[in-house]
Amino acid sequence: MLPEVGRAMVCSVEPPAWVPVLTAPESRPKSSLLAVPALPVWGDSVPDRLMNVKPKLKIVLCSPRGFCAGVVRAIDTVERALTLYGAPVYVRHEIVHNRYVVDSLRAKGAIFVEELAEIPDDTTAPVVFSAHGVPKSVPADAQRRNFFSLDATCPLVTKVHREAAIHFKRGHEILLIGHSHHPEVVGTVGQLPAGAVTLIETAEDAEKFAPKDADNLAFVTQTTLSIDDTAEIVAVLKQRFPNIHGPHKEDICYATTNRQLAVKKVAPVVDALIVVGAPNSSNSQRLREVAEREGCKVSVLAQRAGDLDWSMFEGIKSLGITAGASAPEVIVEEIMDAFAARYELEVETVSAAEENEFFPLPRSLRPDAA
Ligand code: SF4
Repeated sequence: MLPEVGRAMVCSVEPPAWVPVLTAPESRPKSSLLAVPALPVWGDSVPDRLMNVKPKLKIVLCSPRGFCAGVVRAIDTVERALTLYGAPVYVRHEIVHNRYVVDSLRAKGAIFVEELAEIPDDTTAPVVFSAHGVPKSVPADAQRRNFFSLDATCPLVTKVHREAAIHFKRGHEILLIGHSHHPEVVGTVGQLPAGAVTLIETAEDAEKFAPKDADNLAFVTQTTLSIDDTAEIVAVLKQRFPNIHGPHKEDICYATTNRQLAVKKVAPVVDALIVVGAPNSSNSQRLREVAEREGCKVSVLAQRAGDLDWSMFEGIKSLGITAGASAPEVIVEEIMDAFAARYELEVETVSAAEENEFFPLPRSLRPDAA
């Protein structure tokens, strides 16, 4: 089931100002062809803007893009809690890193806090933990204060927590490849006693790391990293410590992987690429970096159409668009509409993978819960 936020997002009141068309000119819908007026005899020498003719722009949409199964589940958790228990529903940290989603849920009665200390002691309202996961101390604190907590941690993040716990039980020294201060990293480190996990952020960190016992190491990774950067770090670790334990592939999730693969296909063939996403969204930032590395000269992150610096797109003939795993499709549509107001668009989609993942709600919110 799509979250209500998601459902609202895909329904435009107005029909979109752009029309998906096939690349072959003869197969374009009539409406697109009719939008181009016949050139007058002096047409070649008259600037387009004086003739009110929009320049052409090819938009290449990356697929998959936008919401992943973990984000849908997290948003659904808050919406279902609001439906079942009414407002307010407390949410620790942004449920997912997207301002539009957070504002939409806030308007429905969610109250976002950074720490449980901000929640009144006497509340009976549900308290939701965000998709990024939390240190063990957080649910323990919620239980001590008798809060009714709902865990919206993505199951793929929980899987990493379990891997780390198993390595710890087996007595391995644990390395976590990830970005310091990201809430997912804080949550994973917080699954184990202080000092049990060493953070590795770069290949240089991996080169410098001095283990207690080189034959008793294990690693886990953040789920939203760059595939290439992580492969480089893992290669350094494996070369230095051939007996290191780790997942078969890294712990980078399917959604992060697929969105990066789609950008790798699109970035080399477009003049600019927009990633719809927030600056604090790790997977969105990585998509922007991937586009840059693939040679795309203009690669920008945008939360809304209003954020776009139009001077960056002057003279482009083609534009790639993708969206981070926490960015709703309605913002992609908003940005397409903004370009359609300035250009005559031709739209095609380039796909890197099919996605059918679905994660069920926390047990106590499922329709069949007692
Ligand atoms: S990006 Fe990956 S790990 Fe994060 S919520 Fe989505 S599926 Fe889960």
